[in-house]
This record gives sequence, C-alpha cells and structure tokens, in this order.
Amino acid sequence: MSYVDLHTHSTASDGTVPPELLPMQAVELGLSAIALTDHDSTNGLQACAAACESTGIDFVPGIEISADPGPRVDTDGVERRRGTLHILGLFVRHDDTELAKISERMREARNSRNPAMVEKLQELGVRITYEEVEELAHGQGTQIIGRPHIAQVLVSKSYAKSVSDAFTKYLKFGAPAFIRRDYLEPAHAIDAIHHAGGLAILAHPVQLVMPNADELEHAVKRLTDMGLDGIETRHSDHTPALVAQYEKLAKQFNLLTSGGSDFHGERKTVKLGSQNVPREVYERLRDACKG
Ligand SMILES: [Zn+2]
Ligand SMILES: [Zn+2]
Repeated sequence: MSYVDLHTHSTASDGTVPPELLPMQAVELGLSAIALTDHDSTNGLQACAAACESTGIDFVPGIEISADPGPRVDTDGVERRRGTLHILGLFVRHDDTELAKISERMREARNSRNPAMVEKLQELGVRITYEEVEELAHGQGTQIIGRPHIAQVLVSKSYAKSVSDAFTKYLKFGAPAFIRRDYLEPAHAIDAIHHAGGLAILAHPVQLVMPNADELEHAVKRLTDMGLDGIETRHSDHTPALVAQYEKLAKQFNLLTSGGSDFHGERKTVKLGSQNVPREVYERLRDACKG
C-alpha cells in the first residue's frame, strides 16, 4: 500500500523546509504523492513541482486560504472568540489571477494589522514600538509576524507576566488592543479555487471549534451550498472518532475526502506523511478534478 500527504507547508509560508526540498523528504518516507498547501500563497508551487518531477512522485499544487468562520454568539448573547476556517485548494493553477489577488490582499492585511495593534497599545500608554516586535520576530527566524511576538515584547518590558497574560490583558478577542483581522468570505475563497481549476476542501474541521454536531453539520451544509467539494477527514489534530464523524459527514453531503499531516517542518512536531493517507484518496481527488 502506498501513502500520500495532501497538506504540507514550506518556507513559502510558515514552514521551515524549502519547497524544492520537500519532495526528497517525501520520497525517503516512501510517499507516492504530496500536495504543497502554503497559507494564502502559491509562491512555492513551481519549485516544488519541478522537484517532484525529478524525484518521480506525483505533485498536487495547492493553497490553504484563511476565511471568515462567521460570528460565534454564545447562548448568553455574547460574541466570543471564533474558530479557524481554512479552505484548501487542491490541483490549482499556480498562476491564477484570482488566487494572486487573494494572496496580495492577505499579505496587506497581515502587514497592516500588527502595526495597528501596537499603535493601540501606545494609545493605552504601553511604551513599545513596532520595530521591537519586528526585531524579536526576525531574531527567531520567522518572516510572519503575529500577536505572539507582540505578547513576548510586552512580557520582556514587564507589561505582562506571561504571553497568556499579555493576550488576556491586551491582545485576545475583545481585549483593548485587539483588532479584528480582514477576513475573506468563504464563498470568495471557494470561487477563487474553482477559478484556478481546483477542488475546495474544508481543512481540519476540528479547528472550527464546534463541539456540537448539529452546529458543524449546519456549517458544512452552508459551505456545500457555496460549492465546497470535500472535507479533510484525516489530519494530525483529528482523533479516530473525529475521522469517523467527518467521513460520515462527507457521505451525507456527497463530498470528497482528503487527508494530510499539516507538516510545517521543524516548527511543529507533526511529521511528514504521518497520517498514512492511502493513495486512493489522491486518485479519487485527481479524477474528480479532471471530470
Ligand atoms: Zn490550517
Ligand atoms: Zn495547514
């Protein structure tokens, strides 16, 4: 039996392995196909495709788009932190114009949100600068700056006791320096993936944080009405019980299934190929895309 991994990240987003080196690692593990699905970016696809070709494994050009999970209003009427809605595009054209527009918009959103949060902190009398945040993040070798880096600066300057204290006091949803990020509507993400000739797959449904089965079913129905093609059933965050639940959901809504590790290189403990996704899963997706 041969296995595949249809969810991986490279240095083109927040992974630590360059896209041209990923296929070699996959071959060493005996995988027969991989998808590269960097966050909001197709920049690594050409290099990865070329390396797959020379190592002789099948390549699935992909992307992982962050979309708006919608408001989460609890029974007490209070709006609380929302889960994560990621949509994978598999078999996309790397040079599609709609995907390029999304990448650009998300890049701008990231670049403007963090400085704006630091500005809010300054208005609150907190004396840190954005340069300090950048310095700390780059010192840790990352290109993508986020709230954890701001939190670490707050701790180092004694404005918070710990990173989690910094989130509670300043940075979490609803806290004084929190700024809502610019979210893409899921329908927009699905349309762009289809525009690029790909299949739209709901990534790691567990991260939607919908412990209530009815709520999840409703969310999947809504996405299916928007044109969703499949669900990622196997993922490093899914227990066997969740895999079974998601496979049932896929059947119920006549959706394809996909699976992958969500490998990020050294940055996380997840291993490439660790989900043992059978090659048939890849073949079914490939055939559906052709058809
Ligand atoms: Zn994700
Ligand atoms: Zn991912």
